[in-house]
Amino acid sequence: MSKTTKQFQTEVQQLLDLVIHSLYSNRDIFLRELISNASDAIDKVRFESHSNEAILEGNSDWKIKIVPDKDAGTLTIRDNGIGMSMAEVEENIGTIARSGTKAFMQSLKDKATSDNPELIGQFGVGFYASFMVADRVTLYTRSAGSIETGCCWESTGDGSYTIEECRREQRGTEIVLHLKDEFKEYLDEWKIRSIVKKYSDYIQYPIVMDITRTETPKGVDGEEIEGAGTIEKTVEETLNSMKAIWARPKSDVTEEEYNEFYKHVSHDFEAPFRTIHFSAEGVSEFKALLFLPARKPFDMFMSDRKKGLQLYVKRVFITDKCEELIPDYLRFVKGVVDSSDLPLNVSREILQEDVQIKRIQKGLVSKILSTLSEVKEKNFDEYVKFWAEFGQVIKEGVHFDFANKEKLQELVLFESTGTEAGAFSSLKDYVARMPESQKEIYFITGNSREALEQSPHLEAFRAKGYEVIFMSDPVDEWVVQSLTEYDGKPLKAVDRGDISLDSEDEKKEKEKKREEAQKEFSDLISFIKDHLQDKVKEVRFSNRLTESACCLVAEEYGMNANMERIMKALNQPVPESKRVLELNPDHALLRAMGDLHKQDNKAPALSDYADLLYDQALLTEGSPIKDPLRFTRMVSELMVKAAGK
Ligand code: ADP
Repeated sequence: MSKTTKQFQTEVQQLLDLVIHSLYSNRDIFLRELISNASDAIDKVRFESHSNEAILEGNSDWKIKIVPDKDAGTLTIRDNGIGMSMAEVEENIGTIARSGTKAFMQSLKDKATSDNPELIGQFGVGFYASFMVADRVTLYTRSAGSIETGCCWESTGDGSYTIEECRREQRGTEIVLHLKDEFKEYLDEWKIRSIVKKYSDYIQYPIVMDITRTETPKGVDGEEIEGAGTIEKTVEETLNSMKAIWARPKSDVTEEEYNEFYKHVSHDFEAPFRTIHFSAEGVSEFKALLFLPARKPFDMFMSDRKKGLQLYVKRVFITDKCEELIPDYLRFVKGVVDSSDLPLNVSREILQEDVQIKRIQKGLVSKILSTLSEVKEKNFDEYVKFWAEFGQVIKEGVHFDFANKEKLQELVLFESTGTEAGAFSSLKDYVARMPESQKEIYFITGNSREALEQSPHLEAFRAKGYEVIFMSDPVDEWVVQSLTEYDGKPLKAVDRGDISLDSEDEKKEKEKKREEAQKEFSDLISFIKDHLQDKVKEVRFSNRLTESACCLVAEEYGMNANMERIMKALNQPVPESKRVLELNPDHALLRAMGDLHKQDNKAPALSDYADLLYDQALLTEGSPIKDPLRFTRMVSELMVKAAGK
């Protein structure tokens, strides 16, 4: 095939520009990225070779070679990993195959990108980082198994690339960076050494470089031979220690090493929030090095997001995305697990069923939850920051991880009528603040704190001095289905069922008032009920309103407005469920309507007012009204009347 010129996918070009302009303060990482890719490629061919030895072609002296060429001004990184076919090169290098690219680019545009290099790092700039230091990049590669037909790809990073078939005797990939004049320092032996040591020391394959030293020949006695001149000697030196970081004792590993390793496994740019390094012995033997990131990834809620931990068996790489090791609600956790019990030829199917994997998962979850609990106890402010990033996902665990429910409910934080906006409280602290007369934990679900704060459902609770928890994440509707009590106190939705916050005496008093009102307004109530029969299940007087005229409440097990909204957003069928319209007997509006009804129970205005009452109740809970035009027309007419025109 002859050489063809192609255009980068638009997003690639945008990403490239961003990388070049935003990461300039940390250029050295281009080498880390290329070494990481080379190491991954060796992992892959090694893993394939467990089931197909022929793939090795007798070439299994694993190494990553760095070749600086001062004359040509090039820096080459070569590996004998799995290589790529031509189609793979196009897919991996010319386009961004990863899901969520568009959303990611949007999120970059929404924030000031140059101030947020960590966002770009989070996406994993990988190969493209080369263009920070090179004005031309040539990639030669041959995929394992496709004998001798390789391919050559080249780009100057300006929107297009060329690709052509070429002969390659060796399997693997070679990347040649034609360095920009101002970055020739990357050809310097000591510069390369220091970058490798800093960022890639733990890579488990030798990262080698030819080192030429000038020596004076020595005699048998070890003394330099005088007058013999000098000779040049070249040796291939290994630059990294190759120690698997998770296999080393904790006390031996520096924070910087952990952080660099984290960046290698996560593609994150920032240091992790917490590092968890431990080994388990007994029924299940494994070592784990886990990281809790500091910031949530942009694609945390995208269903096709890659997740899982890296799995090794006795230091041999098995897979980099083992989903079975970590439950979905901890999908943000990154890291490595190295098991001593699993067989080397473990397959995907086996992983799904394996009891060892299940045991490991249990051990990991327990360790992660106890780490979080410790942070929460010792450093609440820091925990709050973490919670703001990952709380929404962890809450999924309250619903799905029954075995750890007790631990999870201690980790959960909420805002409430008793906290400032943006400040959080645990259930334990909420309970500690409860006045003695309060027997239940109250909450309200909805889509934002601001909207919930306006809810008429809170009136009676405010009047009583009872705190109400705001549950404004969609997942909260599921949380409250599972978390029905805490510390022996039932959790109760303030917008559901019949609520009474009063003492026995107060209750009697109110009941009397309610009965009187019910009697006095019975005709009006039947009228409203009849008129709204298609929309509401019942009309009754309320115990929860002190200021507003009316509100809608769900029955104890019915669907509330928030759940309806969420189900609609998820494109789920929303079962027809009528709610109860509660009226405030002390409100002037009710009296006015009552009087009107007494004067003329057929007055046409009555039906309009009943509709307006219902629409008001919808609006205050944040639900849309059916006919906004009619609503505005009626309100306008009332305004004209009120103004005496
Ligand atoms: P990432 O490493 O985050 O996936 P990159 O842009 O660095 O992103 O690489 C994209 C893909 O190109 C890799 O996932 C891999 O499939 C392929 N690739 C990159 N470098 C190599 C290499 N040296 N050998 C084989 N495949 C490679």
